[in-house]
Amino acid sequence: MKKMLSIVISAYNEEGNVKELHRQLKLVLKDIGLAHEIIFVDDGSRDRTLLYCYELQKSDPAVKIVRLTKNFGHETAMIAGMDYSRGDAVVFMDADLQHPPRYIADMVKLWQGGEKIVLTKRRSNADAKRGLLRPFYKILSKIYYWGLNFLSDVKIPEATPDFRLIDREYIEFLKKFQEQDSMFRGTLSLICDVSKLPVIEFDAPARLSGESKYNFIKSARLALDSVFQFSIRPLYLAMWFAVILGTLSVILGSYVIIERFLLSHPAPGYATIVSAITFTGAVILFVLAIIGMYIGKIHIEVKKRALYFAEYFSRDEKQVSK
Ligand code: UDP
Ligand code: MG
Repeated sequence: MKKMLSIVISAYNEEGNVKELHRQLKLVLKDIGLAHEIIFVDDGSRDRTLLYCYELQKSDPAVKIVRLTKNFGHETAMIAGMDYSRGDAVVFMDADLQHPPRYIADMVKLWQGGEKIVLTKRRSNADAKRGLLRPFYKILSKIYYWGLNFLSDVKIPEATPDFRLIDREYIEFLKKFQEQDSMFRGTLSLICDVSKLPVIEFDAPARLSGESKYNFIKSARLALDSVFQFSIRPLYLAMWFAVILGTLSVILGSYVIIERFLLSHPAPGYATIVSAITFTGAVILFVLAIIGMYIGKIHIEVKKRALYFAEYFSRDEKQVSK
C-alpha cells in the first residue's frame, strides 16, 4: 500500500503565512508523490489564521484543521497535531516559513531509506537577535545548553528546531507520554539516542510575515522546564549545598570557640552574625524554591487534566472532538 505522509504545522497568529506555506508545501509534496495530509493546528489565533485554513480546506481536501479552543502554546499544539495525524511518517514544522518545505524531500528520502527519525539543524538563523544584544543572546544560549546538559538527564542538542520527521512507530511511543507539562523536544531524548540520529542542516530564513511569539521570559520558562521535567539533579545539588554550608558553619563555630575561650580574644562583632544569618537564609530559600518547583509539577500532574481541548475538521470524516 502507498505510504502516507502527515505534515503537522502549529500556527498562532500566522495569517500572513499559512497560504504561502500551503502553496510551497503542495509543490514539494507533488514532487515527493506520496499520499499526504496537511494538519494545521490553530493554537487559538486571534487573527484570520483559522479563516484562511478553512479556505485552504475548501480547495484542498488534504488539509485537516485542529482548532485548539484557546492558546495552549507551541509544544501542546504540536502534540495535538501528532494525536490527530494518521500518516506513516509525521513531519513537524513552524508556520512562518522559517522551516523551508523543500527539506521535507530530503527527510522523506532518508525515511524511505530506513531511518525512523530525521532531525534538522540550523546553520544560521536570519531572525536571530541583531545589534548590541546579539553577543549577549549568543552567550546566554551557550550557558543554557551547557547548564541544561549538566543539570538534566536528557541531552538536547543545540540549534535543533522542531522541524523533524518521525516514523509512525515512534509517534506511537511518544503518544504514551501522558504528561501535563510535556516538553516535546526532551521527550524524544527519552525514547532514543538523539546523538545517533541523521541530521539535515539548513539556513533558517527570516519569518515571512508577523513577529516571533517567543520572548525572553517564554524561552527562560522553557529552559527551566527542560531541567525540572527531566532531572532531579537540582535536588542533589541542593543537598551538596547544605553539606558544604554545614561544614563551613562547623569550622566557623570552632574558630569562634577557640578565639573566645582558649585564646581569650574578644568575640567577633554582630556583622559576622548578621551576614551568616542572611546567607544561611538565602540558601534555605534557594533550596526550598527547588523543592517547591518539583512539588508544583507534582501538583499539576496528579490532577490528570486533559492537555488540550480541540475540534477537528476534515472533509472526509465527521467532525470529531477530543
Ligand atoms: N506557535 C504556536 N503557539 C504559540 C506560539 C507559537 O503554535 O503559543 C507557533 C508559531 O505560530 C510558529 C511556531 O510556533 O509556527 C514557532 O513560533 P515562532 O516563529 O514565534 O518562534 P521562533 O521561530 O521565533 O523561535
Ligand atoms: Mg519562527
